[in-house]
Order: sequence, then structure tokens, then C-alpha cells
Amino acid sequence: MAYLQLKNIEKFFGEHHAIKGIDLEIEKGEFVVFVGPSGCGKSTLLRLIAGLEPIDKGSLHLDGRDITALPSSKRDLAMVFQSYALYPHMTVFQNMSFALKLAGVPPTAIRTKVDKAAAILNLGDYLERKPKELSGGQRQRVAIGRAIVRDPKVFLFDEPLSNLDAALRVQTRIEIAKLHRELGATTIYVTHDQVEAMTLADRVVVLRDGRIEQHGSPLALYDRPANRFVAQFIGTPSMNVVPAAGLPRLAAGVTPSDGFVGIRPEHVHVLDAAQPDSLPATVDMVESLGVETLVYARLENNVQVVARGSERIALQPGARTHLAFEHGFVHHFDKLGSTCGT
Ligand code: ATP
Repeated sequence: MAYLQLKNIEKFFGEHHAIKGIDLEIEKGEFVVFVGPSGCGKSTLLRLIAGLEPIDKGSLHLDGRDITALPSSKRDLAMVFQSYALYPHMTVFQNMSFALKLAGVPPTAIRTKVDKAAAILNLGDYLERKPKELSGGQRQRVAIGRAIVRDPKVFLFDEPLSNLDAALRVQTRIEIAKLHRELGATTIYVTHDQVEAMTLADRVVVLRDGRIEQHGSPLALYDRPANRFVAQFIGTPSMNVVPAAGLPRLAAGVTPSDGFVGIRPEHVHVLDAAQPDSLPATVDMVESLGVETLVYARLENNVQVVARGSERIALQPGARTHLAFEHGFVHHFDKLGSTCGT
């Protein structure tokens, strides 16, 4: 039996069916990331697991025990919120030790646990400070430390990095990945940032409208998306997906005529001159990011395509160019959006 088991879980908010039957098994030590567009139900699903919202239908088992109706405080889970939720009048030490104190853990054991967590999180020098004397990243580390000292069965993170600036997000993301390697704790992490999902997860669960669209390793989702939604949600810029009629050469023989073909930007190449298989295009925009260049272009039939290359490309909007498509990396989707071949 899996460590954490979600069986056909449903949630209604009044008339609104927010979670529509989720089945998922999470193994001990796994780092699972829930991603999906705003409103797809990621936070709700996490809150149902945490016990912060009652489950309307289905069941939840943790470590062999049915916890569906168990109050949050008895579930042995620790949640880290994006808002940190620290007590402003308490020091870092007091914030980190609060739950242990309530649980009656002896002071010497508390000291040991907090010192250990503070060392892991580089917070040793800040234990006597109040939250307002810390940076955003340090506050988030305190919130994580507070979860670590409890040694919970599962860590739950709800968009923990969304209040941090871009550089700090990357740094904290790396720290969370390191922490998971060191502690090996079972973790469920909610984000709408697919780079976080791809870099942190053992397994990514893509949600849409209260349902799971696909789950799998980050690269499995990237390379073998089950449908058009996942194909376009995972990867930046998104996979080019166009009606079969828009790229007939790529669709040939595989995509139904009312289906779609998809190709990732890195498999579209901007050429200096026409080649037998290339298509003429007009450049709409070029984004030079240093390490790579994105070229947004339009084919003669007005189909828009993004190409991504590691070379520097000095094309102006309006320039005529030629695009080559790597046929081995074409995805085929039927009209309902499911994959029908790669
Ligand atoms: P975001 O990325 O924007 O945080 P999310 O995927 O986490 O989105 P949820 O917060 O889980 O989405 O919300 C899922 C759906 O349930 C949304 O349509 C939301 O409006 C609705 N919802 C969430 N909480 C409540 C509530 N307490 N009462 C009523 N509706 C709610």
C-alpha cells in the first residue's frame, strides 16, 4: 500500500464542484508537485490532505491509517504557506519551537531539534531575531524550519516561494531541493510555476478543473504529454500546437485531419536559406536572452510558430526567413486533445 493514498476524493464549495474525483498514490520519500492554472484546485487538494477543509467524498489514507475524518492537528503533517504565517512577537527560536512546546517536548530536546534545523537552514545566527528583522527569504526558511522540527510524516508546501523576488526564488528553490535530498521527507508542493515543478519534483501532477490530466516524472511529461493541455502547460515557451491543416507536412498520415500537430520550439530551426523541407516565414519578434534566442514567426498561411535556438540570431521584425521542423519530434493530437502518436 502506498504511503499516502487519495481515493476518489471530491470537494464541493456550495454548487461549485472544485475537486472532481482524485485518485493518487504517493510513496514514502517522494517529492510530488501539484501544478495547474489558477483555479484548477491545487490549493484545495492540498488543504483537503492537510485537513484544513473537510473531504466531501472519497478517502485519504496515510501510512496505513484512514485519516479522512481526522482533525488537522492529529494528521502528523506540516504545512508551509506562502505568507509564512510566523508569530510576529516571537523570536525565530520561539517560532520554530512553538509546536514542540505545545506538544510537551522537554526543553533540552527542543533546543537540539531547533539547533539542528537552524543549522540545515543557515538560520543559526538569527535565532534571537523577530520576523520583522529578517529578509523574506529568511522568513520563509523559518517557516520551513518550523515544519522540519516537528518531523512530520508529510511536508505540505503551498506556493512557498511566490512572495520572494526572482533571485531569491531560485536560491530558495535550490535550498528546498537540497533539504529534500538530506531529509528524504515525503513532500507535496503546490505551485503554478512549472519551472519549480520541473526542477523540484520526482513526480509532477498536472491538474485542470478539479481533475488530474496527467502525472509522471518531469521529463516524461515534457517528452510524452498525454494531451494538448499538458503539452502546452509544461515547457516555456509553450509547445507550438496548430491544426493539422496548418502544418500538413508534419501531420501527414498520422494526425487526423481535424486533429493537431505539436512541436516544441527547440525543434524548430531558423535557417539562413531555404532547404528542401523548410517553410518560408516572416519574423514577428526576436527575444535575445543571451543563452538562447526565441524567434516568433508566421508561416505563409499565417500559422504562428516559435523557434528557440542557442545561437544568436539578428533578425528584425518583418524579415523573411525559413523554418525547418525536426520531424522526429512532432506530437500528434486528436481533435479532443489526446495524444495519438509522437
Ligand atoms: P491558484 O493558483 O489561483 O491559487 P488553485 O489551483 O490553488 O488556484 P483553488 O484555490 O484550489 O485553486 O480553487 C479551486 C476552485 O475552488 C476555484 O474555482 C476557487 O474559486 C474555488 N474555491 C476555493 N476555495 C473556496 C472557498 N472557500 N469557497 C468557495 N470556493 C472556493
